[in-house]
Amino acid sequence: MGAQIDPLPSPASPAQAQGQADAATHAGDVTTPASAVASGVGDALPVHSTKGGSVDPSSVSERELARLPHNHSWRWSPPVYTAASCLIFLLFFVQPHSWRVRLYSSLRSLVDDERQFYTLGSLVVHTLSFAALNGGMALIYWAGLPFFEQFKIESKPWPWHRGPKERAQYFALVRKTLALISFNLYFLQPILLWVGYRDGKRMGMGGDPSPEAVPAWYTSMWQIAVCMLIEDTLFYWSHRMLHWPRIYGYVHKVHHQYKTSIGLASEYAHPIEFIVSNAIPFTAGPLLLGVHYWTWWQWTILRLGETVDGHCGYEFPWSPYRLLPFSGSSTAHDYHHSHNLGNYASFFSWWDRLCGTDRPFVAFERKQIALRAAQHEAREKLRAQGKLRDDKTQ
Ligand SMILES: [Zn+2]
Ligand SMILES: [Zn+2]
Repeated sequence: MGAQIDPLPSPASPAQAQGQADAATHAGDVTTPASAVASGVGDALPVHSTKGGSVDPSSVSERELARLPHNHSWRWSPPVYTAASCLIFLLFFVQPHSWRVRLYSSLRSLVDDERQFYTLGSLVVHTLSFAALNGGMALIYWAGLPFFEQFKIESKPWPWHRGPKERAQYFALVRKTLALISFNLYFLQPILLWVGYRDGKRMGMGGDPSPEAVPAWYTSMWQIAVCMLIEDTLFYWSHRMLHWPRIYGYVHKVHHQYKTSIGLASEYAHPIEFIVSNAIPFTAGPLLLGVHYWTWWQWTILRLGETVDGHCGYEFPWSPYRLLPFSGSSTAHDYHHSHNLGNYASFFSWWDRLCGTDRPFVAFERKQIALRAAQHEAREKLRAQGKLRDDKTQ
């Protein structure tokens, strides 16, 4: 905080001028502009006042930080994106009760034994939702459409566009990821589900599993809200513990092989991390509340959606998770991967705020705003001198 940004020297030619003005952006690996300019969202970004060609990041106010697109995107996004978030939220939670009962009854009739129903059902829901979410993301990465790329968080290119060596390294990591995810999901998870069934049942898991007991949508909704609070707390503290230097290298370093994360990276975890920081925080809420299997599977989809959203590398303004009060953001978790500093929580931001573990990220954001202001100032100066061609994107 308080670091000054050097004024840009006068350029010798318009081309150099353009380059130097660009350098004001890239010097700090600015992460906001791509999402900031997304369909007018960036118009809400402040252009900070500058003095003598430099900008002090510590002078960036809380209000200016709050106006960054990933903070309260529901507030600053064009209404169409907020409407899309609300629609996703409603479709996910609100269905006619008779539909829920009919669907659940047909699924329940497929497997007689409750233990098998619970284990197999959980594996199938997990697999299908994770595959659908990542299949959708794979299409977005592959297509590289400007509409989606405008929401990309990091300004540097995707790893597969950074040259043959990085591309090969990244795809080797993706192959390792698929192998480890398969081990966790299809070896560890069935054991946890099968062995944990009796204890879980004793604690109330599944409640009354009959089709007649399928809960109303609002019951599932409040129970999932409680699960989110419990998960976020347990995830924050277990994740923070995994960053303890004495054990970091043995377990959590695996997940942090991704400096630029993609959706698939969300479940790339050492088996110990898979149990301690993923499975336990995820299961604690449903166990304590004794939720119906319907709600348990809805919760599975919602949690996977959140972690894929957090790792996907885009800050989508239609993400329904940004409707949550004190929501975390994909930008915050992207920073956690690129800088390996703070931002430990999953759904919310309050534990990081309360414990001060979001400080490096907030300082980084201040620097982004300051750099953006310096860039703006440099461009204005060069434009006034007639040394810069007109660029409407700036
Ligand atoms: Zn971490
Ligand atoms: Zn992560």
